[in-house]
Amino acid sequence: MHKVIVVGRGLIGSAAGRHLAGLMEGVALLGPDEPADRAAHTGVFASHYDEGRMTRFVDPDPVWAVTAKRSIERYAEIEAESGIRFFTPSGYLGLSGPGSDYLERAEASGRPLGARTEWLDAPAIRQRFPFLNVTDDKHGLHETGLAGHISPRAMVAAQCAVATKRGAMIIAEEAAAIRLVSGGVEVETAGGAVHRAERVLVAAGAFTEAWGLSAKALNLRVFGRTVTLARIEVDLVGELAAMPTMGHAESGAYILPPIRYPDGQLYLKIGIGSTDDADLRSRDDFSRWFKSSGSADNRRDFQAFLTDLIPGLARVSHWHTDTCAVAWTSTGYPHIDWVEDGRIAVAVGGNGKGAKSADDWGWLAARLVAGEDWDHPVSRDKLRLPA
Ligand SMILES: Cc1cc2nc3c(=O)[nH]c(=O)nc-3n(C[C@H](O)[C@H](O)[C@H](O)COP(=O)(O)OP(=O)(O)OC[C@H]3O[C@@H](n4cnc5c(N)ncnc54)[C@H](O)[C@@H]3O)c2cc1C
Repeated sequence: MHKVIVVGRGLIGSAAGRHLAGLMEGVALLGPDEPADRAAHTGVFASHYDEGRMTRFVDPDPVWAVTAKRSIERYAEIEAESGIRFFTPSGYLGLSGPGSDYLERAEASGRPLGARTEWLDAPAIRQRFPFLNVTDDKHGLHETGLAGHISPRAMVAAQCAVATKRGAMIIAEEAAAIRLVSGGVEVETAGGAVHRAERVLVAAGAFTEAWGLSAKALNLRVFGRTVTLARIEVDLVGELAAMPTMGHAESGAYILPPIRYPDGQLYLKIGIGSTDDADLRSRDDFSRWFKSSGSADNRRDFQAFLTDLIPGLARVSHWHTDTCAVAWTSTGYPHIDWVEDGRIAVAVGGNGKGAKSADDWGWLAARLVAGEDWDHPVSRDKLRLPA
């Protein structure tokens, strides 16, 4: 019998596992490894099978800003303890035009937290980042210091490595059912094994409801997202060497600088959320989506958008897409709460930006499940399941 089983070894679950393993013995992290062959895979996928997630203090919402700051400030200790590097402090540049106060709100939340920011007008943006094509009506918010990007795959590996060092057990299986039993909770795996614990924390992200892992309705809205990647060859590497992560306030586009992927190549990535994104509900919806190459319209539009912003990318000869999923909650924050009092809790709902704050969402979930004081600048009520 384990003390706690964390179901889901993604960004939030692996963080919760590391923090829990620092608080108690008897912790298990249950979730599958990344499938080697997507096309043949019949189980769950994840929202972290990638090499680039943006991370920064500034955010228009103070809750996201403070949880990001607290997470980012722990990267160094996680890297040191695991021996796995996952963070690149490349900076962040938000771009905006007239009519949007997104950057002003983001700066107002980040400044009191110590975000290192400066405002840039259009000429200053062009001077600092000569590869960008920006019109005169644009301005930018540049965050340096601890803004940049993480490899979500490597961060999950680092969190799991530290959790294991602290005594946690990894169970590389998919949960098929979670049920209350006398004196605890039972997790049945897709392979038919049964694991028992006093308490269970469900952190299965976008898959939680479709896989029937929450006793209470979470009312997640899950959307499939297409990202487009440009392969960066030697001729562009120098030109883009100082590229920060970027956000575009009006379109919602997010752009990652060239990052090395497991095939050894450098890719620059763009994604833009839209209401046309696929609505994922059933397991079949998820399976089809993750095995597809995403939206052809998105690919065309994202490539055009990116080439207009970074004209040097007209020289890119190889573009491809990838698919992912985001889980939205009605509150705009993850739900971190009990669904069965004192027995089964959830930490679910990254709302499209869960990576940057993941370590802190995991910290909160661990403390909830361990029965520790909340002791956090974000009130517990903000993360409760709506009545
Ligand atoms: C294209 C894209 C770009 C993004 N960019 C950013 C960004 O730049 N910055 C940012 O902050 N956020 C970003 N996000 C959001 C971020 O990736 C997610 O919010 C984050 O991954 C959520 O963490 P999670 O732990 O809830 O889910 P996940 O990371 O998906 O982890 C859930 C885990 O649960 C496992 N699981 C699922 N079902 C089961 C089951 N039945 N049994 C056992 N395990 C199970 C999965 O395999 C997975 O490992 C992006 C998301 C997408 C899709």
